[in-house]
Amino acid sequence: MTAAIVPAAAVPEQRRPRIGVTLDLDEARGRFELPRAYADAVLAAGGLPIGLPPLAGAAGEHFALLDGLVVTGGAFDVPPELYGEARRPGCGPVKPERTAFELALVRLALSERLPLLGVCGGMQLMAVALGGSLYQDLAADAGTGRHEQPPPKDVPSHEVEVTPGTRLAGLLGAGPLLVNSTHHQAVRQPGRGVLVSARAPDGIAEALEVDDHPFALGVQWHPEAVGRHEPRHAALYAGLVAAARLRSPA
Ligand code: MN
Repeated sequence: MTAAIVPAAAVPEQRRPRIGVTLDLDEARGRFELPRAYADAVLAAGGLPIGLPPLAGAAGEHFALLDGLVVTGGAFDVPPELYGEARRPGCGPVKPERTAFELALVRLALSERLPLLGVCGGMQLMAVALGGSLYQDLAADAGTGRHEQPPPKDVPSHEVEVTPGTRLAGLLGAGPLLVNSTHHQAVRQPGRGVLVSARAPDGIAEALEVDDHPFALGVQWHPEAVGRHEPRHAALYAGLVAAARLRSPA
């Protein structure tokens, strides 16, 4: 009988870099979820997306599996206590279990020099992990309310200016770049050793990068979504996977 279901040839000779992608936690429905654009973007960039359920206590073991990490965004805010502030009325809902898991991963990625891409809320969490702070609500704290576009959420809605000479500029070019924008919070103080590498016309920080790290980049927009309209954004996931490949054994 020949009953082999999975032929040996299905195992690739050289494995793709393993890129962890943090999943959202829907407590009410008891589900972990992920917009598939994240997984598609990692795969298109040559990485293998690994969904990471935010389970308290498992962050270290999950981390050990990875060559790179994407900290995703979501419809929730970082608890203000984590950056030394009391909660104000403009602050949205929090997901403490998810944030604790992601914060542990971000801290490990920073200390262990694992390539890291923080997207939207993931960028905000990077700043907080490095001692920075957030605007709890842009309209209330910064007098600007132009960063939550109406649907469709993937189309560009404002410009950013990418600072020449930065890692971000090296990936997708300096100067003007169109991005989508689905955030009501933003980074106020970027944190220790962090460079703001793109800003919106109103001065809001739209990208961060960490000095003295192989690849630790945060963007306030969603490159995996807006990439359909502006192909330059694919360079962010490609850069992450290229950095992860340098770490992964062949
Ligand atoms: Mn924005």
